[in-house]
Amino acid sequence: MLQSLSCRCGRLAISRPISSGGIVKNIIRSNSNKTEKDNSTGSSPPIDENGLYYGKFTKEEYDSAAKFVKEQYGRLEQDIKGDFNIRENLGKVPQFPQRDAKGSTKVKDLTDLFAQTIKTTGPISLSAYIRQCLTHPEFGYYTTRDPIDTRSGDFITSPEISSIFGEMIGIWLFTVWQSQNSPSNIKIIEFGPGRGTLMHDVLSSFNKFIFKSRKSVKIQINLIEASKVLRLEQWKTLCGEKNSFNTTEEGFNSSKTIWHNDIKWLDTEKDVSNEPGVANYVLAHEFFDALPIKSFQRAEEGWREFLVEHTPSVVNTQPKLASSPSEREPQDIDHELLETEFHLTLSKKETPSSLIPNLNTRFKDQPVGSRIEVCSEAELYIMKMLQLLDNSKGLGAVLVIDYGLADQVPENSLRGIYKHKFVSPFIIPGEVDLSVDVDFGNLVQLASKHCSVYGPIEQGDWLHNIGIGYRVDQLIKQNEGNSEKQEKVYNSYRRLTDKDERSMGKIYKFLGLLPNDSQPPIGFNESL
Ligand code: SAH
Repeated sequence: MLQSLSCRCGRLAISRPISSGGIVKNIIRSNSNKTEKDNSTGSSPPIDENGLYYGKFTKEEYDSAAKFVKEQYGRLEQDIKGDFNIRENLGKVPQFPQRDAKGSTKVKDLTDLFAQTIKTTGPISLSAYIRQCLTHPEFGYYTTRDPIDTRSGDFITSPEISSIFGEMIGIWLFTVWQSQNSPSNIKIIEFGPGRGTLMHDVLSSFNKFIFKSRKSVKIQINLIEASKVLRLEQWKTLCGEKNSFNTTEEGFNSSKTIWHNDIKWLDTEKDVSNEPGVANYVLAHEFFDALPIKSFQRAEEGWREFLVEHTPSVVNTQPKLASSPSEREPQDIDHELLETEFHLTLSKKETPSSLIPNLNTRFKDQPVGSRIEVCSEAELYIMKMLQLLDNSKGLGAVLVIDYGLADQVPENSLRGIYKHKFVSPFIIPGEVDLSVDVDFGNLVQLASKHCSVYGPIEQGDWLHNIGIGYRVDQLIKQNEGNSEKQEKVYNSYRRLTDKDERSMGKIYKFLGLLPNDSQPPIGFNESL
């Protein structure tokens, strides 16, 4: 303020910050003092006819300077109070949620919810936007549909391409379990189980090996799932219609699987209990990419947060569409769907969240202008997963599978996927899948303080290391005479393991976390 005044109005030398006591009066007073001094030297400028003394300025100069200062002062006052002085404007300030013509205060959809919220509070954080888009109970993307449905879904995932994928993970789990002296009481916990397909294929293959090993094991299943729609799909896949879908006294959904295991659905990682004498095995396939991020840009003075602003009809070019190849991320871009009502805006000032990157040494050498995405929820989830490992007894394991960068901080990866097309993450909120690249480097850094870390390793390599090739050969031989089936098996294998832009072998990574001093698990022979 002080600087801008002296630059813009060089002749008005104000030597201290403006107080709220009336700047014009201050100028007059300070100039009056000067007059007394000047008078004593005998060169006294005239006193104006209005009785006021303007020092060396003409009245016009003085008026224009005073007007300028008054404006600046008004602006400063507004900066401090916000656009509205709430106390003076009670009743006129927009309220949230607004009443419609019928007096109802219900919001219509997420566009309405965000528009009203932003009008009331100003731009909102990106993580709040993503959280509501994905799991708002009434309007969220995951909470209101089955996004992986083969006919109406927006994307396809590895377990849905072929059951071989889950089978390989079942083999991995069996060998880890065996290497831990085959604990007789275990819990398999899956975060974000989609349609339940991966758990189904893992359990089929795991149970087959258990049966062959003639060991007995009690298996409980926990699924962490935000969506009621998908919970029902998971129940159909894993329990069959005969085992009813119940709600326990504590309010958790529960049932029995077709293999007679107790199965329970939980809302968040906080609901997973660590039971003594039970070894926990955790799976998370395409879960971390669906967690909300915050986005920041480095300014001279520190990190500044990107916020979501409401401005109808903005052509939005977020995200960097060209650099995100994967099965889940179709290549076609619908340019019409880049027109949005919402867009990102960079906060000019520090927000409370700026502390996250400001305090993190990982980001301290990033140059001015660089951009980063930070996922605090991923940190909470990974910490919970680590707590489920038993370092003292050497029991348990975590397998995270997702797309993302092995050792780079994601910069600008947030993307929208709608009807198998890339779209802006800011169109029709709640109708579009939002996902980000997973920051594996961060997960590794956090985990390595607590356990043994394996990977991340590319999906194609992991699957080959486990022996997908043998299984594919076997299936092709078993289907001799059925060329259609053989082709299907072969094509699925290529989609899962090839490393070109349209396949999943390179972009998806496997990360294994095991108790300290464990035997190295199969699959991770080479890491990136
Ligand atoms: N693993 C599955 C589904 C991936 S889609 C597959 O690969 O096919 C993401 C899954 O995570 C969905 O089941 C979605 O409903 C669930 N999900 C997303 N955010 C969640 C959250 N915050 N808490 C619990 N589940 C969530």
